[in-house]
Amino acid sequence: RRVQRAPRAEVVVDLAAIRDNVATLRRIVGPAQLMTVVKADGYGHGMVEVARAARDAGAQWLGVAVAEEALALRAAGDTGPLLCWLAVPGEDYAPLVEAGVDVTAYTVEELDEVVAAARGLGTPARVQLKIDTGLSRGGSPRELWPALVQAAVRAEAGGALRVTGVWSHLACADEPEHPANAEQEQAFREACEVATAAGLAPEVRHLANSAAALLRPSARFDLVRCGIASYGLSPAPDVVGPAELGLVPAMTVQGRLALVKQIPAGAGVSYGHTYRAATPETVGVVPLGYGDGVPRHASGRAEVLVGGRRRPVRGRICMDQFVVGVDDDVRTGDPVVLFGRGDDGAPTAQDWAEACGTISYEIVTRVGGRARRRHV
Ligand code: PLP
Repeated sequence: RRVQRAPRAEVVVDLAAIRDNVATLRRIVGPAQLMTVVKADGYGHGMVEVARAARDAGAQWLGVAVAEEALALRAAGDTGPLLCWLAVPGEDYAPLVEAGVDVTAYTVEELDEVVAAARGLGTPARVQLKIDTGLSRGGSPRELWPALVQAAVRAEAGGALRVTGVWSHLACADEPEHPANAEQEQAFREACEVATAAGLAPEVRHLANSAAALLRPSARFDLVRCGIASYGLSPAPDVVGPAELGLVPAMTVQGRLALVKQIPAGAGVSYGHTYRAATPETVGVVPLGYGDGVPRHASGRAEVLVGGRRRPVRGRICMDQFVVGVDDDVRTGDPVVLFGRGDDGAPTAQDWAEACGTISYEIVTRVGGRARRRHV
């Protein structure tokens, strides 16, 4: 007889939550348009599935970092506005131009490469120009911006491309009071004026990520780029929680206890014996570890939900498993939730982030791999 077995562990992604979050964000940021950022496999939630959910819920744009991600979305049938922003020298722009993906140019050299690809194809490229207004990461340095704009004007006149957007990225959007926000916003306004004065007419000017989209209305311009909020997590957990924003966490990581057993007083638990039982204790073995993306930094700090109660992680998280402290009412095979929506007593990805000194982005983006992912 075939026995139906529950999986060892799984990452469950609630696409209805993503659709609701996207619809909520659209309501909040309108009349600005919404770009759902689906890079890094949809922040670990599944890029193609998230992209479909986002489009269904009305996201006008999708955003990705690298070319492979953009082309995978096109291969999956997505035909809508799509921006890709991270090129490397010698980038092969032709497939992106052919697929109607908006590419980003930071320098005149990059613009030349895009123009060459477009001329080779006989198809004008859709190009968005990015200025560095203060993050000091990607983007045209401010002093080179007028030259980039002039080069784009010439290329547009020659029919090789159309400048569809002008954009930048904030450094401190999760700290609404930080003076860098106003400085960057002002620098961005000036950059947009330089572009329009030179004759460019971009369809979209955009600056805001989730934090700015939600907390800084003046930074919304024509379009906002929301990643983390689409997945139901707060971009600024020190300022506001997801529930206050009307957002629902979409990812739940769960499994079943592989073993429940007694350990004697004085027993050391897991590698290095960093935890030692003071009295006889009942422990449960969770069959997930850093090989499944569960962060080892949460060793001895995070909690999980078993039998409706939070239980502490005991000792070090291993590659495939870790130990939690439970009570006598817990049995081998009982369900365990590492993190989820947070409305049933389970921790959230934000709780796990705090337990290991990182941000929720890193928790959800890393989890998975060997663990099965299921979309519901
Ligand atoms: N825009 C750019 C350029 C990004 O790199 C990212 C992600 O890091 C986002 C927008 C989305 O940011 P968030 O997830 O904070 O909304």
